Amino acid sequence: MAKKTVRDLQVKGKRVIVRVDFNVPIKDGVVKDENRIVQALPTINYLVEHGARIILLSHLGKVDHKDPSKTDADKAKNNMAPVAAKLAGHLKTKVSFVAQTRGADLEKAVADLKDGEIVVIQNTRYEKGEEKNDPELSKYWASLGELFVTDAFGSVHRAHASTVGIAQLLPSALGFLVEKEVLMLSKAIVNPEKPFVAILGGAKVSDKIKVIENLLKIADKVIIGGGMAYTFLKAQGKEIGTSLLEVDKVDMAKDFLTHHGKKLVLPVDFTVAAAFAEDADHYVVDADHIPANYMGLDIGPKSIKLFEKELQGAKTVVWNGPMGVFEMKPYAIGTIAICKAMSELPGAYTVIGGGDSAAAAIENGFEDGFSHISTGGGASLEFMEGNPLPGIAVIQEK
Ligand code: ADP
Ligand code: MG
Repeated sequence: MAKKTVRDLQVKGKRVIVRVDFNVPIKDGVVKDENRIVQALPTINYLVEHGARIILLSHLGKVDHKDPSKTDADKAKNNMAPVAAKLAGHLKTKVSFVAQTRGADLEKAVADLKDGEIVVIQNTRYEKGEEKNDPELSKYWASLGELFVTDAFGSVHRAHASTVGIAQLLPSALGFLVEKEVLMLSKAIVNPEKPFVAILGGAKVSDKIKVIENLLKIADKVIIGGGMAYTFLKAQGKEIGTSLLEVDKVDMAKDFLTHHGKKLVLPVDFTVAAAFAEDADHYVVDADHIPANYMGLDIGPKSIKLFEKELQGAKTVVWNGPMGVFEMKPYAIGTIAICKAMSELPGAYTVIGGGDSAAAAIENGFEDGFSHISTGGGASLEFMEGNPLPGIAVIQEK
């Protein structure tokens, strides 16, 4: 069972709708980070070189359609025009931008496309029906093209009109970015070479329950750090002070500990702080000695040693969720240590899924230290949960 890719399509002279992820940060009309645009270039260039007539669709930020007093301001803030201009700077072919999501101007721009040229459509979220996967909207957008390619890995976990709706109506295929993500993530999650160690952290247990459940099934060890560790400590009957706690998840944590106690690895010490602040009084304590009025904001040096030991010999390592509040320097030590340990593992296949974990690794200079850093935060998380991703499931098989 393999999905069609863009290589399987006859694209010459055809109008090809490509769903890309151009959801880039924009401030005062300036694109602040063009990484997502760059990631889409291999598919776009392939289509240009093969004479396709390309129609690009993406969402950008959020548009509130429930509160009409906000809709126009959201649209103004999330206008796709600067993104189209940035894209044009990377290409030699003609790139036109249409400031509409439907209508005569758009239809004319599409009809005027010559082989190898590109039309960028306005932000898909200008349409109320986008996030509802509205059939009428999907049908309209599909009517603009003859083929559909999904290359928006960051959006394939969402069943929207531009990700799933159009795909149901046209011959479809994966773009190179989505193909690569599926390949790289599958190598870790679907067919991991053993021993397989997972490292999970981040803020909340509740965000990651399904990931923990799925990885407990397939990994040899599951290391827990970050804010979610304290709910597990609480489940062990430990004092956790003012650390992050999800009271309603304590029983579930107990259950995980009872059934998978040997697989789960918890931190044995922490950096605790008097307040959630960079300049708060902070120091290292053992897991049994968290003071009542302090909160755990990072794992401590003994935990780092323990986690490094658990990683030794691993052939596959998947990491999702920072070990501490890495945005504040004093509590970034555990997260940086894990980046370092993973990037130095000999012969291991190492993958990061999760937006904040990826950001932490890249910010701290470990970008080249991993086999794969996923570009899709939410999508990679759902992949690790073992869920089918609707925007990929809908694509035709070879
Ligand atoms: P990812 O995006 O990689 O999946 P999450 O979004 O789940 O990760 O979690 C990232 C957030 O978790 C960060 O903003 C970080 O500050 C927070 N975090 C990590 N450890 C703690 C902690 N001990 N207390 C509070 N927040 C924490
Ligand atoms: Mg996150």
